[in-house]
Formats: sequence, structure tokens, C-alpha cells
Amino acid sequence: MLPATEANQSQGRLMSENPVLLDVNNLSTYFFSREGVLKAVDGVSFEIRRGEALGIAGESGCGKSVTAQSILRIVPEHGRIVDGEILLHEDGKTTDLARLDWKGAEIREIRGKQIAMVFQEPMSAFSMVYTIGNQIVEVIRLHQEVDAAEARARAIEILRRVGMPKPEVTIDAYPFALSGGMRQRAMIAMALACHPSLLIADEPTTAVDVTIQAQVLELIKDLQREMGMSLMVITHDLAVISELCDRVMIMYLGKDVESAPAKELFRNPKHPYTVGLLKSVPELGEGSSQEIEAIAGSVPGPYDRPQGCHFHPRCPDFIPGVCDVTYPPQMEVGPGHRVRCHLYV
Ligand code: SF4
Repeated sequence: MLPATEANQSQGRLMSENPVLLDVNNLSTYFFSREGVLKAVDGVSFEIRRGEALGIAGESGCGKSVTAQSILRIVPEHGRIVDGEILLHEDGKTTDLARLDWKGAEIREIRGKQIAMVFQEPMSAFSMVYTIGNQIVEVIRLHQEVDAAEARARAIEILRRVGMPKPEVTIDAYPFALSGGMRQRAMIAMALACHPSLLIADEPTTAVDVTIQAQVLELIKDLQREMGMSLMVITHDLAVISELCDRVMIMYLGKDVESAPAKELFRNPKHPYTVGLLKSVPELGEGSSQEIEAIAGSVPGPYDRPQGCHFHPRCPDFIPGVCDVTYPPQMEVGPGHRVRCHLYV
């Protein structure tokens, strides 16, 4: 076996040779209300290669879920993409998802077929008045030209693949009749029914019992490898990222403050916010003590972003007259390792 660092570099090289599936450049999604303008996502850039798993992490309100909603064009009311592009390279063509009509046929065709999403709470993905089979069959028939019998056979097969016991019987169950873990599996089955190129998982294990969490993560990881899908995992839990992801992007108040190959970021975090996050998960932060250290201070209100680096009121490395004046540019500090911090300018 290769030493860890060589193995990581080798893995990084392999992944970096895969073609890019999704290329997000300078994405900005704002919400407009009487209180003002909330810059939920503010100039974020990243890419996801085929077969790659990207984790997006940060505290609640950092913009990670709105990033996913922007990709699928399901941004809630009062929000809109104000800048940037979301390029999907698929079937020999490039489509800028940011430019599509969010209610139009083109994005509806892409949702579910090329990009699918699993949500935190399976109950929100299913209607309670139809069986899970009806709902999976409907997704299959929406995107594929198959008759009802063939769609049902495919639904049973995908339920079997996600580890649903007795799929021939469970297919006729209503969502409320399943346990939390089984509902999670049924939702993953529905998302994978049309073999999407990209699966977005938003806090995939938050709503399930701790004993089920490891099984769900294992399932997502196995299916991603088996199906050669790309994966985008949104979570506040760095342990989930370390379990599933090749690359990580850390967000703070709408900005992508650091991104790197996952193992590089866990071993060699650069941004003081990432360092703080890792210290709060001792087993992931190399050399950290077993004392859990919370990051000092709290996240400012969404309409009250500090001038300069938004993290400066909480930052132990704050440089007066610099950090509170200008926002740091993004700097490359290693292969594929980018950070926005005046310490590295
Ligand atoms: Fe801290 Fe300054 Fe870096 Fe912001 S730019 S993280 S305040 S050192």
C-alpha cells in the first residue's frame, strides 16, 4: 500500500484526469426583501469532475444549500441568481443552467435525469397519498420511454440495489409505513431511478438515527462508485465529508473560503475558519487535543456582514487595517488548494 500522502496524490491525479461535469463560475444568488439584500451565495466557483465526490461544508446559513438549489434552479421565493454561470457538460454539449428558465422544459428534463437530489427529510421528497412505487415509476416514465410494467420492474430493481428488503412487496408501501432508514433508502432509490450523472445529497444523514447514519453513508458511497456518478454532499458535519468526498469546499457567509483535496484539507488546513472547524472535530484535525474547541463568537446576521474578510471579528489571526478593510482575493497555496485569506496573499 502507498503511504497516505502518495496514495492521496495518486487519487488526486486520477480524479483530475476525469472530464469536468459541472463548472460553476462566480455564482451569486441573492434574496431580496424589505430588510435588504441577503447575499446567500456571493461569487462562488468550483468544479465537479465525472466520478468525483465534492463536499461543501460550513455552518448553517453559509450558503451551501442555496448553492445546490441554484444548480437545480429551485431557489426559494424572493431569491435569484444575479451573476455567474453553472455549466453542465453533458451529452457532448454545454448548458448554462443559470441562464435557463427555471420553470422551463429544459431544466425540468435535467432535474431527475441528469442531476438528482436527496433531501435531509425524506418526507419532503414523497407525497403521502401515493405508494413509493407509484412515485418512483412516475419519475422513470417522466424521463424514459418505457411502459408501466417495465418502469415497475426497474423500480423494483433500484429498490433492491439500495438494500430495500423484499422490494417486490415494499414497492407498494406508502412512505409513512416505512421506518426512517427505509424511507431514506426509498428516497435514494427515487433519486437514482434515472441514473443521474450528478447526485446532490443535502445533509443526507441528519434526519436518520445515529445507528442508521453509517449505513446510509456506506450505501451512497457504494452506489456512487458502482454507477460512476459524481456526488455533491452538503453538510455541516466534516466526518461525513471525510467518509465520502475526494474534494472539499468550505463556505462562510456566502463565500468559498477554502477548497482542496479532502485529505490535504484535513491535514493541512490554511484558512483560520477551517482550522477552527477542524478543531471542533478532534479526530479529524491532526495533532489536535481531544478537547472540543468551538470557534469564538457567532456567525453575524445575514444582513450584517462585516466589512473586509467576513470572518475577521472571530478570527484569531486578524490583521487590523487589512482584514477589516478589504476582502482577500483567492490564492492558490498548493495543487488544487485555494484559500481566501490575507495571510496567504
Ligand atoms: Fe483571519 Fe484576516 Fe484571514 Fe480573514 S483574512 S481569515 S480575518 S487572517
